[in-house]
Amino acid sequence: MKTYFLATNDVESTSIRFNKQRNATAEKVLKEGMPALLELYRQMEIKATFFFTGEIAEKYPDIVRMVLPDGHEVACHGYSHEDEFALDRLGYHQQCSQMRKAKDILEGIAGVSVVSFRAPALRVNEFTPKALESSGFQIDSSISSQRADSFLSFGALKKLDRLMAPRMPYYADTASLSRRGHSRILEIPVSALLVPYIGTFMRIAPALTKSLAAVLHHEAKLTGKPVNFLIHPNECIVEEDEDSVARRSANPLQYLLAEKLRTNLKKKNLGSGAIKLFREHLQFFRDRGYAFYTLQQYRTDIFN
Ligand SMILES: [Zn+2]
Repeated sequence: MKTYFLATNDVESTSIRFNKQRNATAEKVLKEGMPALLELYRQMEIKATFFFTGEIAEKYPDIVRMVLPDGHEVACHGYSHEDEFALDRLGYHQQCSQMRKAKDILEGIAGVSVVSFRAPALRVNEFTPKALESSGFQIDSSISSQRADSFLSFGALKKLDRLMAPRMPYYADTASLSRRGHSRILEIPVSALLVPYIGTFMRIAPALTKSLAAVLHHEAKLTGKPVNFLIHPNECIVEEDEDSVARRSANPLQYLLAEKLRTNLKKKNLGSGAIKLFREHLQFFRDRGYAFYTLQQYRTDIFN
């Protein structure tokens, strides 16, 4: 069975340390986080997919341009990563306008058509598949099948359907990205098995994430399911101290459980620590003969 590794990167101005969108973070992502990741991919001859928010691309177009020479895929991470624009809070028309705005900005900068999408904070609702179709997207990667830690993240209740989502890539339903159906959107899930295969988890629990990688490898050998790892270049930077205040929340219990705990844990292994751990994961799959594909390449090769 041929095996595939999909390195997917969400490029945004979210500061992990300060838990908000910041221009200073975006500048560090441009000058430090992106170059570190691109250098790693260059050394290992890996083609990856980069999901940019329209907002960061608009302010810092070089952040998009810098991935082009190495043949990486330019993909869309919505327009804004602010909570008020989370797609699960928006109706069909509002989602379309966010998606089209971001897609236009990215295509204008990159000069290529942008066909892959990942929702900010992986938050989607019943209008998202149709909005993606009508905005000209072909691929989505916002669903993390069998991920069970979602209670720690925003929009948690709406993500429960993902426990039942198919594991292999599938054409999604027109009213749910978590179900198989007849839309034109190919869902390529982010890898998970109770816990997600993502940079955040890799940094918080390195040993457990290595065990997860081994399990995902066995599954890939048996079923051909691609391994889809999600990392952020903002994990590959270190931001200097400032008075760090966790984002306020209306519900004190949610604040304590979700935000305070989350904010502190999420600061582990930032910067070169993240790159070092990620390199070990890439090497694990390289040693086992995986093909490193962009999402677009994967769709073209496997689903056409
Ligand atoms: Zn994001």
